Amino acid sequence: MGKRALERRLSAVAEFEEPRVELEQYPTPADLAAHLVHLADIHGDIGGKTVLDLGTGTGVLAIGAATRAPSRVVGLDRDSAALRQATENERRVDPAHSIDWVLGDGTDVPLCPDDPVTVLMNPPFGAQRGNEHADRAFLETTAAVAGVSYSIHNEGSMAFVESFTADEGGEVTHAFRAELPLSRQFEFQRRERTVLDAEVFRIEWR
Ligand code: SAH
Repeated sequence: MGKRALERRLSAVAEFEEPRVELEQYPTPADLAAHLVHLADIHGDIGGKTVLDLGTGTGVLAIGAATRAPSRVVGLDRDSAALRQATENERRVDPAHSIDWVLGDGTDVPLCPDDPVTVLMNPPFGAQRGNEHADRAFLETTAAVAGVSYSIHNEGSMAFVESFTADEGGEVTHAFRAELPLSRQFEFQRRERTVLDAEVFRIEWR
């Protein structure tokens, strides 16, 4: 399946019904999710791997990976309402591979996989009070479990991500910008549509 076809399938994924601001619940749009999954797949980072989507939300990245040939896909989030939506989204898209939805904390992952792990994530950016540095904690988990990861961060994260990765003995192999168009979800967002500038990284950890 090509990228366009994947994007079409992922556009069936419904967003958060009642997004929770403190958990920074912003969904990845279908085009960016399809792009990430496609990129990971052609790099050989999905086939035969355990794909872990940390902070899976409504599940778009996990579901995208499950349309390819992973050995296992796990979508983890600490919000049970999001996971219910993710389960419904899995049913709608009906990927070839089934997904294990796990209720848990992205900073403390109970996973001891035998095969190599690829983390695919659009984690909380750590921009909300009470959730500062959430992105750092998610990267710490990633460094502990992943061989390779793809992650979406807010603009201006490059220096932090590069130094964190270098400290862990890893390497940022790809970095690119992306736009996250956000429909108005929260009261404090004044405009109907805002576009958030984001940065995406592929990291080899070991
Ligand atoms: N990955 C999804 C959702 C991104 S929004 C997508 O790409 O569409 C960030 C997600 O992280 C939300 O679903 C939120 O519930 C989850 N989250 C925030 N803090 C978390 C934590 N400490 N542990 C697990 N999930 C968390």
